[in-house]
Amino acid sequence: TNKFKEGLEKTRTALVERVEELVIRRKKIDEAFYEELEEILIGADVGVNTVMDLIDELRVEVKKRKIEDAAELQPVLSEKLVGLLRGEENPKLNMAPEGSITVLLFVGVNGVGKTTTIGKLAHRFKSQGKRVLMAAGDTFRAGAIEQLEVWGERVGVDVIKQQAGSDPAAVMYDAVQAAKQRGVDVLLCDTAGRLQNKTNLMEELNKIFRVIQREIPNAPHEVLLVLDATTGQNALSQAKLFGEKSGVTGLVLTKLDGTAKGGIVVAIRNELNLPVKFVGLGEKMDDLQEFDSEQFVHALFA
Ligand code: GDP
Repeated sequence: TNKFKEGLEKTRTALVERVEELVIRRKKIDEAFYEELEEILIGADVGVNTVMDLIDELRVEVKKRKIEDAAELQPVLSEKLVGLLRGEENPKLNMAPEGSITVLLFVGVNGVGKTTTIGKLAHRFKSQGKRVLMAAGDTFRAGAIEQLEVWGERVGVDVIKQQAGSDPAAVMYDAVQAAKQRGVDVLLCDTAGRLQNKTNLMEELNKIFRVIQREIPNAPHEVLLVLDATTGQNALSQAKLFGEKSGVTGLVLTKLDGTAKGGIVVAIRNELNLPVKFVGLGEKMDDLQEFDSEQFVHALFA
């Protein structure tokens, strides 16, 4: 949780400290108070729709509890935020039963932190004593394969690859065969993230999906869409774009440490029916946290 707190420092300053300042300055909950609160929340990228919902809920709660003093609002606000974030009871990854291969497929636009997230997760699974393998499915972007290999060396996990420009579905086929031969527990699959050619990318992802599905029943066990939190509302539109077409089952939100716009987590939870599975809180191999709504809000407000 300490890591959460450190990683969320910028959002804390932009959101919570400003709310605290507002509470002290305004003292009373009136229209002007709500207006300023609205501004602060939108500024932290909670998203206009979500902010409207949140303020409406706050109004109802304030009336019900007959709250007048602004200082009493903070616990209600954090309660509502936890409520918005919670959504799903169990944010844990869907894993194959012991003894079979879990396949996790990562999708998302270039630069969002896909490779880094895969490297961090490889490290995490390996530390848990699992046998891990990575598949270099981004054969399109120059340097993507090498970058995954650098992570492979760093965390001591092999990478299955072909040369740049080759068919990613063929790489996945190789990777699945290697995973079977080597008795691997978790196969982490990188994919291309070019957006210039959206239709082709979606077709490519579908082909990869089918190859994996044909070779391993119930796989891929998760399709994780990686989003860059520093892009704020852009991350939300990417989620809508990918979510519709590529069978995304969960989200990874990276670079929360680098942004004051951590409120995007709330917007994403409220506007999309997709669980946030992990958040990235830095560039190092340990800087990945399982998402937990209560811990998240606690790290912001406590
Ligand atoms: P990809 O193109 O989606 O594979 O993106 P990369 O994994 O190459 O990441 C792009 C950049 O973002 C790299 O410089 C990473 O070190 C950085 N990055 C990734 N995740 C995080 C994170 O959680 N926090 C911070 N601060 N940087 C990150």
